[in-house]
Amino acid sequence: MSALNLVGMLPSQLEDLAVELGASRYRGRQVATWLYRKGVVDLALMSDLPKDFRAALAARAVAALPEVEQATPSQDGSRKLVFRLADNARVSAVVMPDDGRITLCLSTQVGCGYACAFCLTGTMGLTRNLDAGEIVGQLLAANASLPAGEHVTHVVFMGMGEPLANYAALVQSLRVLTDARLGLGYSPRRITVSTVGLVSGIERLGREDLKVNLAISLHAASDAVRSALMPVNRAWSLDALMAAVRAYPLAPRQHVFFEYVMLDGVNDAPEEARRLVRLLRGVRAKVNLIPFNDWNGSRFRRPPLPRILAFQSILLEAGVTTTVRWSKGEDIGAACGQLKEPAVA
Ligand code: SAH
Repeated sequence: MSALNLVGMLPSQLEDLAVELGASRYRGRQVATWLYRKGVVDLALMSDLPKDFRAALAARAVAALPEVEQATPSQDGSRKLVFRLADNARVSAVVMPDDGRITLCLSTQVGCGYACAFCLTGTMGLTRNLDAGEIVGQLLAANASLPAGEHVTHVVFMGMGEPLANYAALVQSLRVLTDARLGLGYSPRRITVSTVGLVSGIERLGREDLKVNLAISLHAASDAVRSALMPVNRAWSLDALMAAVRAYPLAPRQHVFFEYVMLDGVNDAPEEARRLVRLLRGVRAKVNLIPFNDWNGSRFRRPPLPRILAFQSILLEAGVTTTVRWSKGEDIGAACGQLKEPAVA
């Protein structure tokens, strides 16, 4: 990742680079337009750039997307993309068409260091952070893989890795995604960043004025249960987490999302649902119950459907908006918590 990658640079940084190469800022804006507006990554195809500028650019930088090594369609219409990165590491992203939307779930790290007990990615440990080019590159590559005229409409940072543990690259990629002038131009309301609960990161993200949606992987409503499932809870308890959530700036109709993986006999008791209601009191919350997705060697099971629905009812009756989210791509190892790609030998 040593060569400078134009993909992932902010439009303003591309303008600065153009000046550094002896051209006008306008040339940098043209490059941004090609990359982010037209989805053209090949410098040779950027036909309105003067030849000498293109040569200077090519001598200084590359424009590269992660290589799509494999694209696996699921029965349910979603598709898993496995990317091979420049150092041969692999990450995956999932394209999920639904109801006129196309949502991309993308990765921010190779592996993950947080070791949640129910998550397959968590068994890998952390290999490294992705850079902004590799994060934005997943989106550009996903768009390129879609039929002409279609593009990703919503982006969720819910693939491999912990977004807030790769803070600088996360924020850089969010700025490229939301830059309305020369970037990808996504409304921040169509972007969701999910976190295991890194309190300092939530506070920092709130100060960036990015206005993206925040999702919290909660998974329990008491510290005892949460600490047993998620080691991160020993560093930041539910009290600290909820304080950071309450301080996160929200637009008038914006909500904070809470993911709650349903684990049989672990966190699915009616009492835990009532505790969850109390925990969320006064928070503009939407809860997504995610029935556990199985993987080889896991020690958890999905609760029977009636138990999931009973849990949901308690929340609904207390006025908490709650949906059961059946993950996409379970048949292709692309569902929540199932992403794990072997490194290239
Ligand atoms: N690290 C971030 C981003 C990953 S989002 C985070 O934790 O929020 C992926 C979501 O899937 C998280 O809510 C995660 O806890 C959940 N998940 C992990 N393993 C799962 C499994 N086996 N079944 C269902 N959901 C799972």
